[in-house]
Formats: sequence, structure tokens, C-alpha cells
Amino acid sequence: MSHENPIPHDPHEAGHEHGHDHAHEGSALSEMELRVRALESLLVEKGYVDPQALDVLIETYEHQIGPRNGARVVARAWSDPQYRAWLLDDATAAIASLGYSGRGGEHMVVLENTPRVHNMVVCTLCSCYPWPVLGLPPVWYKSAPYRSRVVIDPRGVLKEFGYELPEDVEFRVWDSTSELRYLVLPMRPEGTDGFSEEALAELVTRDSMIGTGLPHASRDAQGVRA
Ligand code: FE
Repeated sequence: MSHENPIPHDPHEAGHEHGHDHAHEGSALSEMELRVRALESLLVEKGYVDPQALDVLIETYEHQIGPRNGARVVARAWSDPQYRAWLLDDATAAIASLGYSGRGGEHMVVLENTPRVHNMVVCTLCSCYPWPVLGLPPVWYKSAPYRSRVVIDPRGVLKEFGYELPEDVEFRVWDSTSELRYLVLPMRPEGTDGFSEEALAELVTRDSMIGTGLPHASRDAQGVRA
């Protein structure tokens, strides 16, 4: 189980502030932001990275690849039992069949939530995340408090996100690595019989695919119902 080197691991972080001029508010930068900025300047100066290429990379992950991809995977699994079985058996292939593959998604495992089991995903060492289906990781996913606390108290962490599950639900926490990344298959909300795949996808939140949230209830989907 090897982990990615933290420096190439976070090219998205290096570009987080890219294109914004915050020089006038330098004091507002965190130590991490300052380090990232210094590193990026050095890499650009040495000619190792092209700032425009970085912008394209960030733009792609922010706007073209994002949690809507994962939502389509989940909606397909909710709609098609054969696809669901395939997804649970060979997530990498089943996800790639919808066109979502590439860096950060080479080896995917899908974890199915049930009335008895709730899965949560973390990367305890850094921020490994299934980019092709979820895009860039949220800031809290990379934070030390989340990474340490979810392992110790997943129920408490979920509560902080605003969700409580019955006492008899078992929590399982999965530690992502650069080689193996997880996507949670949340439970299909009740009252969604007859929903189209597109309408179902609207109910799937990013956090429900990490395990720190649940899908929207079906009443929220009025208006997108098929
Ligand atoms: Fe990681």
C-alpha cells in the first residue's frame, strides 16, 4: 500500500489560488498557501511547469470532471440491477463504461450502504480521492481533523455534517490510497419509484458518495421528477 508523494499528489492545491491575485492581502494566506505559492513559483521559474497548463488542469477538474460524474454512476446503479452488480464486482470497469476513467480512478472500489452498514471514506495520510468520479477533494477532506477523527468517531463526524443514523447502523471507515480509491453507493431515497436516471442523479450529493452525507430526500427532487 504505497502512498503518493505529497508534492505531485496535490497539483490541484498548487493551482488553487492560481489566476487570482491575492498579493495585496498576503497576510491572509495560510502557511500552507504560502508554501504552495512558493513551490509553484519555483517550479514555474525553473521551467518545470507551465502556469497555463496548470490552469487548464484545474479548470478541467473543477468544471468538467466533478461529482456529477459520480452521481450518474450512482443513479445508474439505482436504476439498473445488473449495472449495480457489476459496479460492486468490478467498479473500475463499470465506471469506465460510462466514460469516467483516468488518473485517480485506475483502481476503484464501490462500497454499498445498506440499512445496517454506513461506509465513510478518508485518506488518513494525505488526500487520495477518486478524481474521475468526484473531481477535486473538498478542503475538509484534506484537513487533519477530518482525517484523524473520522477513524475514531465516524458517527460523531457524520453528525457534525448534519446527519444521524440509527444506533444499530454499523459504521465502516475505508482508507484510500493512491492505488485504491473508494466511492460510496448511497441508499436510494424512498419515494423515488419511477424516477428517471437523470432525476435520480439530481438527488446524489458529493458528500453522499464520500459517506459524510446522504442523498437529498425525494421531496427535494420535485420538479425534476420524470
Ligand atoms: Fe492520499
